[in-house]
Amino acid sequence: MATWDFIQKQILLGDAACGKSSLLVRLTDNRFLQHSEPTIGVEFGSRIVEINEGDDAGKRIKLQIWDTAGQESFRAITRSYYRGAGGALLVFSLTSYSSFANCAGWLADLRAWGEDDLLVLLVGNKGDVLGEGEGAEGGERREVEREEAEEWAREEGLAGYVETSAKSGQGVEEAFNTLTRLVHARA
Ligand code: GDP
Repeated sequence: MATWDFIQKQILLGDAACGKSSLLVRLTDNRFLQHSEPTIGVEFGSRIVEINEGDDAGKRIKLQIWDTAGQESFRAITRSYYRGAGGALLVFSLTSYSSFANCAGWLADLRAWGEDDLLVLLVGNKGDVLGEGEGAEGGERREVEREEAEEWAREEGLAGYVETSAKSGQGVEEAFNTLTRLVHARA
């Protein structure tokens, strides 16, 4: 049943290759593309999410999720990208400390260009590549500790921090659901 009670715009932001398109594809299509081409990034996705806890439990929200489609490589995100968005997923890769460090710059952009009441959820993606190398893919390791990400999110007054894997699907529903619920509660 494609009915919904409310519509929300959410945007994805973060360094290239941290998995933004993959998160969108996982949420909207429940698939993972191992070798996605940055140049054919998804621009837009839609999915109805049912709020699963709190006072608004059961409400159906149609999410319109915008992806940068590679524009972030040139830091050429346009004003219209931010306009009207109630929530943003600020994404970095757990396998790249620099992608985490760069979140400060992306957050500055979100604050400069986003709506005054924009809620930002920090997302550490590629959580399937955890551990001390045992079973880690291609020698990739966790480069960002959960505590450090949580602390930064707290210091910056973000809506929270979650870890996801677009590859396994772990945490993806939860990330979007959490942001949707918080944005809706504020509306
Ligand atoms: P974007 O540029 O931020 O949109 O990143 P993409 O979604 O294009 O992903 C960049 C690369 O990382 C691709 O090769 C993906 O297959 C891979 N990738 C994305 N998410 C994950 C994940 O959760 N785990 C692993 N292991 N790889 C991922």
